[in-house]
Amino acid sequence: MALEIITVNKVRERFKPAGKGVWAHVPDSDWHSWIWQQQQRVKNMAQLEKVIKVTDDERVAYEKSNEMFNMGITPYYATLMDPDDATCPVRQQSVPSTKELNILPEDLEDPLAEERDMPVPGVTHRYPDRVLFYTTHNCPVYCRHCTRKRKVSDPGSAAQLTQLDNGLKYIEATKTIRDVIISGGDPLSLSDDRLEWILSRLRACDHIETIRLGSRNLVTLPFRITDNFINMIRKYHPIHINTHFNHPKECTQEAYDTATRLADAGCTLGNQAVLLKGINDKPEIFKELVHKLMLMRIRPYYIYQCDLSQGISHFRTPVEKGIEIIEALRGHTSGLCIPQYVVDAPGGGGKIPVNPNYIVKHEGKKWVLRNFRKQEFTYFEPN
Ligand SMILES: *Cc1c(COP(=O)(O)O)cnc(C)c1O
Ligand code: SF4
Repeated sequence: MALEIITVNKVRERFKPAGKGVWAHVPDSDWHSWIWQQQQRVKNMAQLEKVIKVTDDERVAYEKSNEMFNMGITPYYATLMDPDDATCPVRQQSVPSTKELNILPEDLEDPLAEERDMPVPGVTHRYPDRVLFYTTHNCPVYCRHCTRKRKVSDPGSAAQLTQLDNGLKYIEATKTIRDVIISGGDPLSLSDDRLEWILSRLRACDHIETIRLGSRNLVTLPFRITDNFINMIRKYHPIHINTHFNHPKECTQEAYDTATRLADAGCTLGNQAVLLKGINDKPEIFKELVHKLMLMRIRPYYIYQCDLSQGISHFRTPVEKGIEIIEALRGHTSGLCIPQYVVDAPGGGGKIPVNPNYIVKHEGKKWVLRNFRKQEFTYFEPN
């Protein structure tokens, strides 16, 4: 049975529909079909030329990078691109730039050492009680800033059924695991049946409590969240979905509707954004983004410092930028919508929280602290 969307207020109207753009002639039944959206992805120059005014740089970048890391953009996400402005945040995340061809000496092939911490192929077990489980290398849109560029979009490295089965066997046998993050690629590239097979195996384990799905489909292909998908995952609650909105422009009415249906179906929703130079590296952009996310019932979870993957150095900001953004949020807006800024340490050190320094002085039992207005206060610990 389909879940009915109950419109009780006018929040939805604050979100602008993406619409169909140059696909205006396409019937709704196709446009709202995720299979159609996958099949009609913008994958070459001729298709891209129909959507935007391609620059010389983008043309050269496509020719030189497509072998290594495909271009792939769903028609839905492509309609969000500014046809005349190459600095458009959606365009920069999905259309190649020649800056990707720069590989710096400090760039790393596997910056987070995800391969080193794999007890079995496809499972990274770094933290005591939780694992990352890679289930596919496909995504509806190939994000230019992707940290797993070396794997994603490469059909040769796709997780085979036996690899998935071996990963599940490891999780089933390892009783210290209580939290599984189903990741990829984008796990929602898998069929509902394949996902159900994974979810049912995980839920059957007494030691598994938290099941998270990491998916960017809310941003890049919201129509993937079908009634069938929702009715399937409801059987495996509690399900937490972490998504990846980076810019308020991505918060469309289509995305709002999808988040609403997932939240109404009982999923908890979080967002992991990446700090990207020239895209969202301004406090006012982040403030707008986290406020929009809260209206969508998606709690901001992390802001990642852009890591040391190869060919994404043009997206990296100074670490100070992340601190500046948190400083501009904490105290100035609801604590509920303030994400944790983290640096995922190169070499597999894991996520390290980085915060503005609110401790002015600490001597014995005396702490001098400052607030968001930079006023100082002294706290004495009891004897
Ligand atoms: C990010 C990550 C997790 C999850 O970390 P949380 O802080 O619990 O969200 C687990 N394993 C690996 C390898 C990760 O990179
Ligand atoms: S959806 Fe995630 S895994 Fe896929 S290309 Fe984008 S960042 Fe990479």
